[in-house]
Amino acid sequence: MRTFTCKQSGMNCSFEAIGNTDNELARKIIDHMESAHNMQVIPPEHLMKVKNAIK
Ligand SMILES: [Zn+2]
Repeated sequence: MRTFTCKQSGMNCSFEAIGNTDNELARKIIDHMESAHNMQVIPPEHLMKVKNAIK
């Protein structure tokens, strides 16, 4: 089980995602970034923060 919280990636946001696999989690994170944070393309430096925030 993998978890991600937006707050740990440096965003002021209470979103949390849970996935059984990295791919499932990544899809949820990308959906959230697009709809909640208006990121059609996630900048590489933010992607690093996202990866570091995944537990
Ligand atoms: Zn968020």
